[in-house]
Amino acid sequence: MDLQKLCIHTITNKPWSLTEALDAYCTKGIGGISIWQNIVETLGARETGRILHDYPIAVVSYVRGGFFAHTSEDGRQKAVDANKKLLDEAAEIGAPMMVLVCGSDPHQSLTTSRDQIKEAIEKLIQHATSLGITLTIEPLHPMYADTRSAVNTLEQANDLAEYFDCPAVGVAVDVYHLWWDPNLEDEIARCGRGKNLDAFHICDWKSPTTDMLNDRGLMGEGCIPIEKISNWISAAGFNGFDEVEIFSNNYWAMDQHEFLELIITAYINLHDD
Ligand code: ZN
Repeated sequence: MDLQKLCIHTITNKPWSLTEALDAYCTKGIGGISIWQNIVETLGARETGRILHDYPIAVVSYVRGGFFAHTSEDGRQKAVDANKKLLDEAAEIGAPMMVLVCGSDPHQSLTTSRDQIKEAIEKLIQHATSLGITLTIEPLHPMYADTRSAVNTLEQANDLAEYFDCPAVGVAVDVYHLWWDPNLEDEIARCGRGKNLDAFHICDWKSPTTDMLNDRGLMGEGCIPIEKISNWISAAGFNGFDEVEIFSNNYWAMDQHEFLELIITAYINLHDD
């Protein structure tokens, strides 16, 4: 099967260096890669961009900016400044979008955190536009609403994106965060209509899940109706990459070439059923 629409997040094969990941992905004919910040922290943005340039693979996104909500004004300003720098890095590595984990501060209400997220994105639009990079809002599962993101439903992400109504702001749909939402089909359609559907992240929800962060499953291993959601995404006009984003202590402990085979098989099964 053609793997040109398959993209893998570097965090999925966390034990690999960038070149190890690129060698393996390109050997398999995988079409895209999303670069996590730890890679750029290690290599620098220029070197990361230089390495990527030599491989026949698309840089799909830079992961991740955000964390905008803070009780202090100083904290909020530092977050905006840090995100401007991250946007510069995204440009240097050739990524067309930067995924936002929008942030939340448990010492204030979610509503206040959401207002601060909106203000921060407003301050970044000009910089993002000048670089031609989309700020891609990723709603996170409500179990992360205390510190990681006060944007927890696709409806909230759509509201934000439609408020700005510009090419520099879009939305990422991650099945892990949104599969439970009874309004998901309608909100995916709305996201497509608003031309805000920029990214589709896949993995699975294992039952039981033993770790709130690092026990994600391979597609087909859990209870998320990925194929159904994928069909809604296609129906909404999305023609981009299927981005595999798996944080898993179990899979990170495996031989990463064997893990990559499992990912490819799971991806093929997802589309062949
Ligand atoms: Zn994601």
